[in-house]
Amino acid sequence: MSQLKYCQGPKCHIYDTKDRKRGPKDNKRNETRRRSNFYYLDGNACSMTCERDWFNRYGQRALQHFGMITQPKVLTADNAWRNCRDWRREGDDAFYAYNYLTEERRPITQAQYRDDTNIDDQGRLTT
Ligand SMILES: [Zn+2]
Repeated sequence: MSQLKYCQGPKCHIYDTKDRKRGPKDNKRNETRRRSNFYYLDGNACSMTCERDWFNRYGQRALQHFGMITQPKVLTADNAWRNCRDWRREGDDAFYAYNYLTEERRPITQAQYRDDTNIDDQGRLTT
């Protein structure tokens, strides 16, 4: 059973919709939305508006916390790999790592294609 959680949008409760209304007729109030699952802010905001509100309030601090980049990131032949599939072929022959700067192709297994363990999160080959 999944647990309910609150939308993290700091202004969620001020948007006036029926599903946010709570309480008896003489004491109506709006509350932050609560759901088992959200689609925005990596599953933590009920709408793009709440996602934007969150970023407007906390984004600058989040960037400072996790570290602003101070130099450009660079794509070279070392980190230009991605896994590809040739849909005209069958079996392991259909799968390859492709370097989109040098256009080099290296064969990989179907399992590597599925789980991407042969390429790190920076696009470098690990095998
Ligand atoms: Zn919300």
